[in-house]
Amino acid sequence: MPLASSKDVLLKARAEGYAVGAFNLNNMEMAQAIVTAAEEEQSPVIIQASQGAIKYAGLEMITAMANVLADHASVPIVLHLDHGTDYKQNVKCLRAGFTSLMFDGHDLPLEENIAVTRKIVEIAHAVNLPVEAEIGSVLTIEGLLSDSEIAEIRAMNIPAQFEILRKKIGPTVEEHIARPEEAKRFVDETGVDFLAAAVGSVHGLWLDIWPLRVDRLQEIYEATNVPIVSHGSSGVLIRREDAEAKGVELAPGEGSLLDAIKVGYTKINVATALSMEFNKAMLASAEKRPGEKDPRKLLDPARKAVVAKTREYIRLFGSTGKAETAKSGSKEGLGGGMAKRGEE
Ligand SMILES: [Zn+2]
Repeated sequence: MPLASSKDVLLKARAEGYAVGAFNLNNMEMAQAIVTAAEEEQSPVIIQASQGAIKYAGLEMITAMANVLADHASVPIVLHLDHGTDYKQNVKCLRAGFTSLMFDGHDLPLEENIAVTRKIVEIAHAVNLPVEAEIGSVLTIEGLLSDSEIAEIRAMNIPAQFEILRKKIGPTVEEHIARPEEAKRFVDETGVDFLAAAVGSVHGLWLDIWPLRVDRLQEIYEATNVPIVSHGSSGVLIRREDAEAKGVELAPGEGSLLDAIKVGYTKINVATALSMEFNKAMLASAEKRPGEKDPRKLLDPARKAVVAKTREYIRLFGSTGKAETAKSGSKEGLGGGMAKRGEE
């Protein structure tokens, strides 16, 4: 089937209380793995491309891969732009055939973030494409700690890692959490369809230990009534029951990823965890087969590892068996965005 709209997929998910995984592809093997996992789980799925992935593979290559995968899939596949940095990038992706856009203006002053987001929403909605935008700041671990600090922390046991991370980055992360009244104004004035609201997660964290401000998330969802997007999910504490074993002390109002899905998280982005899984399997096969001349012998185990990891996430988010998405709506008015190559 043709690429699906993220709006159809996410509104259904919100109404039924589960979340949909938005997995970053870095290459063909990862894109195939994500779609294979979605097929096996009969789940809708969002494949998303960051600016880095677009630069690496080229916009046309990414769009072509997504179209081929979607055409052969029996489940809804969305192609989403992850962290679009400006207006032009969004226009390029709209024209290329993405079915979901994002503008990340979190480092702009609020007024400017609103102005650019509104402009993108206007052109996107003209062809029925949904838009995600960011408010508050989901920080990146590399921006918070030096490489040597990261290496030092990673060598510790898990409870010690949590303790030191809480002390070193906790206060900064807390400062960048989105505020409900601002989020409401942002949604009202831009017409954006989904909100990447910072509620405590951090991009690039290597271990699932970080708690979320679930109280703030709930307030933001209730104030805006749009599905909330999780960024930096790879590092978030998944289950509340695991907190103790990981040495995570939950403060009042804090909770896990599964707690957050109950109160508004609907699109869960996963990038770091899949990339790490891919690399781990690839490096392991390289070690087992020194001197191997066939790259496929190293990449196929990596692809299989990503299938398994993606399935785990899909089950966790509750979207298994939910492929029956409102398929209507995606036909009407999706002209520019849904045009197949050659039809423009
Ligand atoms: Zn992100």
